[in-house]
Amino acid sequence: MITLRDISKVYKNGELEVQALQPLNLKVERGEFVAIMGSSGSGKSTLMNIIGCLDIPTSGEYELDGEEVHTLDEEQLARVRNQKIGFVFQSFNLLGRQTVLQNVTLPMMYAGIGREQRNERALELLKRVGLEGRVKHRPNELSGGQRQRVAIARALTMNAPILLADEPTGNLDTKSSHEIMHLFKEIHQEGTTIVLVTHEPDIAEHADRILLFGDGQMLKDTRKGSVTT
Ligand code: ADP
Ligand code: ADP
Repeated sequence: MITLRDISKVYKNGELEVQALQPLNLKVERGEFVAIMGSSGSGKSTLMNIIGCLDIPTSGEYELDGEEVHTLDEEQLARVRNQKIGFVFQSFNLLGRQTVLQNVTLPMMYAGIGREQRNERALELLKRVGLEGRVKHRPNELSGGQRQRVAIARALTMNAPILLADEPTGNLDTKSSHEIMHLFKEIHQEGTTIVLVTHEPDIAEHADRILLFGDGQMLKDTRKGSVTT
């Protein structure tokens, strides 16, 4: 599903260069549930941005769901993001003036899906995440856990094969965090490939595979039940 070949990233700010990612080879199979851990500044967000086609690597090749994305231009990358990837963020990234329902329909609006079909799909997903009673609320009328469930519903609208989540439980209490992880597990069981970043071992434990990053390098690659460094 995700194949990175010698992917690296150097940020250039004038004279200053930061090697955020050392050349990295990584393969994530369809249907895997991967957690990425590592200290601050270890390159986790850089890697997620590359996997999510939000940022372009300095070197290397990236194959996503059978497509060589390192050859694509901005417009083509936007299409790949919309069709193939659902994003969930730590700070939810919901539009405050829009209702829960409107927030969930947005990606479908960009994709040109008609109003009736958008609303039907959004309602189905909001029911799926347990928020059918909150469709007309605004995000600030919801708890953190509920806001993240809206974001997850939004991430599922396009039936993307991959869900990327950057610290999805970083702003949540323990109980809400585990509810969100339970939801991720269900989504994973339905066949979605999930890659999430977390610094909490309790959260990473829910994944089948844990990648540990340090200093722009993958230090460890551990699968449940076995260790493959
Ligand atoms: P993490 O997500 O693990 O905290 P990042 O991927 O954000 O790590 O950062 C990796 C390294 O790249 C850090 O040294 C960080 O300071 C640097 N970095 C990240 N983004 C930029 C940027 N836009 N410009 C310059 N340096 C950056
Ligand atoms: P949690 O215990 O999950 O963090 P909260 O205590 O934040 O939840 O909220 C409990 C309930 O109150 C939720 O169902 C939420 O929808 C509702 N709620 C929270 N904040 C507001 C608000 N500002 N306006 C209206 N309803 C709210």
